[in-house]
Amino acid sequence: MVLVAGLIVALVALAALQYRWIARVSEAERDRLKASLDSAAERFCADFDRELVRTSRSFEVAEDLGDADLERDLVDRLARWRSTAAGPKLVRELLVVTRLERGEVELRRLDEPAGRLVPGSWEPDLESVRRIFEARGRVPLLDERLPGLVLAPRNARPPRQDGTEKAERGPAPRGEEPGGGADRRPPRHHVVVRLDLEYLGKEMLPRLAEREFGGREGLAYAVTVAVAADPRVVIFRGGPRVEDATARTADAVRNLFALQRPGDEPDPGRWVVAVHHPAGSLEDAVTGARRRNLAISLAVLVLLGAAVVVLVSSTRRAQRLARQQMDFVAGVSHELRTPLTAMRSAGQNLADGIVSDPEKVKKYGALIEREGRRLTEMVGRVLTFAGIQSGAQTFQAEPVDVASLVDGVLADCRWVLDEKRVAVERDVAEGLPEVRGDAAALRQALGNLVDNALKYGGSARWIGVGARLAATSGGEEVLLSVSDHGIGIRRSDLPHLFDPFFRSADPSAAGIPGSGVGLAVVRGIVEAHGGRVTAESVPGQGSTFTVHLPTAAGKGRGA
Ligand code: ADP
Repeated sequence: MVLVAGLIVALVALAALQYRWIARVSEAERDRLKASLDSAAERFCADFDRELVRTSRSFEVAEDLGDADLERDLVDRLARWRSTAAGPKLVRELLVVTRLERGEVELRRLDEPAGRLVPGSWEPDLESVRRIFEARGRVPLLDERLPGLVLAPRNARPPRQDGTEKAERGPAPRGEEPGGGADRRPPRHHVVVRLDLEYLGKEMLPRLAEREFGGREGLAYAVTVAVAADPRVVIFRGGPRVEDATARTADAVRNLFALQRPGDEPDPGRWVVAVHHPAGSLEDAVTGARRRNLAISLAVLVLLGAAVVVLVSSTRRAQRLARQQMDFVAGVSHELRTPLTAMRSAGQNLADGIVSDPEKVKKYGALIEREGRRLTEMVGRVLTFAGIQSGAQTFQAEPVDVASLVDGVLADCRWVLDEKRVAVERDVAEGLPEVRGDAAALRQALGNLVDNALKYGGSARWIGVGARLAATSGGEEVLLSVSDHGIGIRRSDLPHLFDPFFRSADPSAAGIPGSGVGLAVVRGIVEAHGGRVTAESVPGQGSTFTVHLPTAAGKGRGA
């Protein structure tokens, strides 16, 4: 018991430790995943922006080029780009936007096959570019919706800021103030590099995503690139589907599509990449894994606990069985010794000639015969028990008349009934069908029940033996019952009554000698006849044992 308690305390302690340990491991795991996801997103954006810088460098034209020079320069630059760039398809076309006097904005496009700048019209998809130039103010470097790069001429004068002018080198000035110095400078052309949305969304971004978030099959994470100012405008979406792919719920969020001129205030990036774990979020994935881990360790601990319980209960069962077998030996010896003692002293008296009166001799003879019969019954019961246990016992299958069976049993114990002056109430229904089986074995089974009713029948001096027909779900069966008004059986003993060697620990029953095999024999015989035996009892008021046997006509299987 101390050992078991110790084991259980150890199990509980182990469970608590396990719980805390798993919690810490999953926290660490989450932090690790988060950090590696963050740096992957970081690299994804940096790689993309590096491409933007490279592109912008390729199309920076010099300031103050005349139209013809500008045209030639652009044709050259585009041809060089097409032949040397890693992703030549990134640039869809080149546009030249010029702010004319009177605030008008002129649009030209480079006709690539012809190698010429041709007038262009403001088609709806160029609306965002047009707005940039029509708004009188600084021209941003990027148009995140077109999407495109808006490149001012190199070496342009810096904008006037706080009344001072300072020289600035870099891809382009940060903005300009048309009007103020417009009359001193020729019209300035902005080159708009229109990027190919199709190529971005279907080739370039998928390739970058595959490099940073690739798993065994495709992307391990859901990756969404959208316009920061309007997340409904999605540039690229890849990887497993998640319910909410917005930046609000993402495991990692970074901005991209940023281009900076030296000295500019940093541009955070006009697009946003949102990365989601396929489980919805990293938190969910880690919580799920943690739950699974907890469930598995809990199952292992429960299994261990169950093993302890099984071990303890089987040990106790083995102990109980050993004790019952000891009791059996003691009970059998006692039951053997009592009749033997009686027979020996009767024989001794006869042999010594102490008894010579013929009446008395007759009485002694009857006594010897009776005790001998009790011994025979006793030995027969133990042998049947052994036969049933080993499976060697065989039973005949012949028609048995129920009324004669009951009368035979009562005749067998007539002398005990007379000796103890016990009243028998016989209640056998008329016209019962025959049962199929071994008449001698059935007689022994019923005899055991009557024996018990006499043994445990107390001072009531009454037993009831009955037989009747009852309907069952599959047909009908014969019920043979033996009742007494004796000491009864405790409720807790009922389930064990028919176990071999079982004897009640109830003091009123324990004082009565017995071996504990009688009811096991009854059950063995009845079950071999395709029937069953049940017991009902009210402690202190009496018991009824009922044998249920299939009728010969029914589908009973005689042994
Ligand atoms: P035995 O009578 O030799 O002990 P049994 O197998 O016939 O063995 O009975 C097992 C136990 O069942 C008995 O020890 C007794 O406690 C209980 N028992 C059996 N029949 C009766 C009965 N009619 N009334 C009360 N208890 C009974």
